[in-house]
Amino acid sequence: MIQDCLFCGIVAGTVPSVKVAEDDATYAFMDINPASEGHLLVVPKRHSTDLLEISADDLAAVTLAGQRIAKVAVRALGADGVNLLNCCGADAWQTVFHFHLHVIPRYVDKERDRLGMPWVPTPGDREAIAAAGATIAEALG
Ligand code: 5GP
Ligand code: ZN
Repeated sequence: MIQDCLFCGIVAGTVPSVKVAEDDATYAFMDINPASEGHLLVVPKRHSTDLLEISADDLAAVTLAGQRIAKVAVRALGADGVNLLNCCGADAWQTVFHFHLHVIPRYVDKERDRLGMPWVPTPGDREAIAAAGATIAEALG
């Protein structure tokens, strides 16, 4: 538990939340600024800042809980699809620095869904793609 961490407060119950589910390692609750009907967040109970820091065990637990809840939410809400999203770093839209997975049910009916695709898929420069791929592959060893 980190003092002044909003999601540690939610896990501890000192900050109110609309709880959806919990298990030994994870806690799931509704997002207060939903991108769609049913938008919720899954967090590890143990604090970690982001994707680069979270332990493999907590990441596995959050991801599996996210999948389980996503399956149920899609069926229960009659959604047409679902996005799982994680933001890692302020420049990647992270605003709360306690790791979380967004579970965002998606709908053909746009009255239930405010999410838009954030980029227009356009073919990239082949050499630049190959160079970035080679850099990552080499770093992976
Ligand atoms: P991020 O931008 O870090 O990926 O996502 C943080 C999410 O936390 C946002 O979608 C935001 O709406 C949500 N959020 C921020 N403050 C609160 C809060 O006090 N309660 C709940 N339930 N969600 C919050
Ligand atoms: Zn925290």
